[in-house]
Amino acid sequence: MSNQPSLDLQTLTSLCKRRGFLFQSSEIYGGLASTWDYGPLGVELKNNVKAAWWKHFVWERDDMVGLDASILMHPDVWRASGHAAHFSDPLVECRECNLRFRADHLMPWKVYGKMGRQKDFLGYVTDINPEWSLSDEADSWHYALARKRGYKDHVAKPTEKSVGELIDSSDIPCPSCKSVGSFTEPRQFNQMLTTHLGPVQDDASLTFLRPETAQGIFVNFDNVITATRRRPPFGIAQIGKAFRNEITTGNFIFRTREFEIMEIEFFVKPGEDNEWHERWTRECMAWYTELGLDQARLRLRPHEPDELAHYSKATSDIEYKFPWGWGEIQGIANRADFDLRAHTQASGQALSYFDDAAKQHVVPYVIEPSAGVDRAVMAFLADAYTEEEAVSAKGKPETRVLLKLHPTLAPVKVAVLPLSRNERLAPTAREVHHLVRRSGAIDGLVQYDDAQSIGRRYRRQDEVGTPLCVTVDFDTLDDQAVTVRDRDTMTQDRVAIEGLAQELRRRLE
Ligand code: ATP
Repeated sequence: MSNQPSLDLQTLTSLCKRRGFLFQSSEIYGGLASTWDYGPLGVELKNNVKAAWWKHFVWERDDMVGLDASILMHPDVWRASGHAAHFSDPLVECRECNLRFRADHLMPWKVYGKMGRQKDFLGYVTDINPEWSLSDEADSWHYALARKRGYKDHVAKPTEKSVGELIDSSDIPCPSCKSVGSFTEPRQFNQMLTTHLGPVQDDASLTFLRPETAQGIFVNFDNVITATRRRPPFGIAQIGKAFRNEITTGNFIFRTREFEIMEIEFFVKPGEDNEWHERWTRECMAWYTELGLDQARLRLRPHEPDELAHYSKATSDIEYKFPWGWGEIQGIANRADFDLRAHTQASGQALSYFDDAAKQHVVPYVIEPSAGVDRAVMAFLADAYTEEEAVSAKGKPETRVLLKLHPTLAPVKVAVLPLSRNERLAPTAREVHHLVRRSGAIDGLVQYDDAQSIGRRYRRQDEVGTPLCVTVDFDTLDDQAVTVRDRDTMTQDRVAIEGLAQELRRRLE
């Protein structure tokens, strides 16, 4: 799938607004920073992403069950899980322009660390993406800085230094005002959003909006194994909202304070965790490419040891090359038995299973593939964005913008278009629309569109990624056939109305 290497964020954002994928939240009140509402097409795309994920990872597997836990949980959950104490990022403030940043996002060693690990991990990464190379980092100013400081391919990372010392002694300029040496000492900033339950706002009523869906799964571990008689290896999957009071947000829907996660906690026998971690990394990577993401724009990035979250034994990120550079779309963490043990200790309820072979209770290890819905949506949109040279209906050269979305994800599957608004065509076109929509053959939105010229309507459908257009013309009235136009090739075929829905389904598959 080819797309525009020059695609910039502004182009994508304005297409999304213009065509009803995404709107800024509370726009009529001036908007709320970094919060977005999914419009009529956006909600279809997002639902399709979630449905494709659920189908693949829950319905089509023998070792997975689902769950939908509540966003609000007992505050002790977050104390036991370590989030209340440790779910924080190092925050620094520029004394010149007063903007705040995540210190770890400014650190050259982070980039440098990536370069080092890349070699360690080469066999693993090469398997998945042979194109992956050091030069991919070349556009990053972090990389340039690391090079300037003489970091070569493989030098020990300065782990003995604290983040503060590094920031202090560094020549990292403020990304906004470019002042050097202007950062304050980093302080830990907890990302948990809080709220109060009930009418009295005191410490006793304080609770948190979940920053991940995982804890809802862990605290239900015993309920699920009792109800389903499952034993490891098996997983519990959940899709839901999460909230983080991010220090800096931005890059459209990439980093927001409210977002949605598609998460699995996969429970395995201790000792089998490394193997399952690798397996899950591969399976998750394959899901994106099967849905059309360009392999050359995907890569794996294993975390440096001191970059790991407080619960993690090892983590690999799947990153996508967005218009502004590489960004994480999914993390696959080995959480070991950290969470189940922590909740067992704090709640007094044993969270383990009985291993029949070993004749003992075992606390399983957990592999956690955790994918951002919004980041996936953004990656699919960016990857699908394509510009092509084309010729207009009047024979003039023009640029055709299309979203080459995988049919499974496309917000509109089929558009039914009468050639014109001529009153002789409308009844048949409506009938065809009704027939296709109610056939049960098309799993998604079938749209009727009769506004403006047929050429413009084709372009409009291309721009939102509709894979197939069905055109009803005057010949249809005689031959009971319609024209089916393919988005990517623009080829047009005559297809009989009888059996049309099945034929469309075949083409979408
Ligand atoms: P980052 O390093 O970008 O802050 P993270 O490592 O903290 O991300 P995880 O805790 O692994 O993220 O969360 C799982 C997934 O949730 C991420 O891979 C990402 O797709 C998504 N995600 C995390 N934070 C945000 C956010 N602020 N906005 C949108 N999606 C997010």
